[in-house]
Amino acid sequence: MSELQQNSSDRIHNAIRQYLESLQRSGIRQLPRLPDMAPSLATRAAGQPAHAASAVSEATSTQTVPIATSIDQPIALAHSDNIAAPVSQGAMTEPVQTSPPSVEPDPLAALDRVRREVMHCTLCHELAQTRTQTVFGTGNPSARLCFLGEAPGADEDRQGEPFVGAAGRLLDKIIQACTLKREDVYILNVLKCRPPNNRTPLPEETANCRNFFERQLAIIQPEFICCLGAVASQTLLRTTQSLGRLRGQWHDYQGIRVMVTYHPAYLLRAPDRKRDTWEDMKMLMHEMGIELPAR
Ligand code: SF4
Repeated sequence: MSELQQNSSDRIHNAIRQYLESLQRSGIRQLPRLPDMAPSLATRAAGQPAHAASAVSEATSTQTVPIATSIDQPIALAHSDNIAAPVSQGAMTEPVQTSPPSVEPDPLAALDRVRREVMHCTLCHELAQTRTQTVFGTGNPSARLCFLGEAPGADEDRQGEPFVGAAGRLLDKIIQACTLKREDVYILNVLKCRPPNNRTPLPEETANCRNFFERQLAIIQPEFICCLGAVASQTLLRTTQSLGRLRGQWHDYQGIRVMVTYHPAYLLRAPDRKRDTWEDMKMLMHEMGIELPAR
């Protein structure tokens, strides 16, 4: 710390001490949590520019420091919403009651915030103009397993839910064959808007929408992702490898285990591939510790 910084720090320190002493003389015993008040307090007391006081606040707001043990250590931290820093006469050795850090954010609420952003998104001009509505995703917000598809089709665009047409019914059967229910898993697509005539998503469209599905996955934090089809697989894994090469092995997406299989819409056109998909599902269920009935 330079001499100038040291002088500045000492001035703020002394000013806050004087301020606390004046509060004591006024009979005040409790203060609101310090991070919110430190900038204005320090600025007001020391005549410092706001950024100087903010630096004090930031320096103290990221660590757990016992509330001042004496009036000589006035820059103390109350890190919880319901904490007040005690101001008492003389030495302050009383332990401060702290509550645990803020509770886990509600995944349903967090997903809903992203959903509202998606609803108003017009990044892909063509898709935003031709869609009936956006199709966000559905299922258990804390699912162990997410199914990631390509994009909404006509039925999904109409109903606002992914995988509700013929391909969706086949996906339901696959999920049931795995002894799971649709409500157990989370189903989403790479694109939230239907490409006209169900054309393949353009690279700039998948890039535009990446932010949304990545945030969904970050909120849900599944243990497993099953990519349905080449677009979902290549987009998630940022690869140009064919589905044939990607199938039958585990991949990693930010610590989440990724399985790749055929899209149900493709299986409707090529039913002989269902056997391969079932092999993929058996591998996935085995890894998830889900026992499948003998077929
Ligand atoms: S596809 Fe995704 S990025 Fe493009 S307009 Fe729809 S929500 Fe926005």
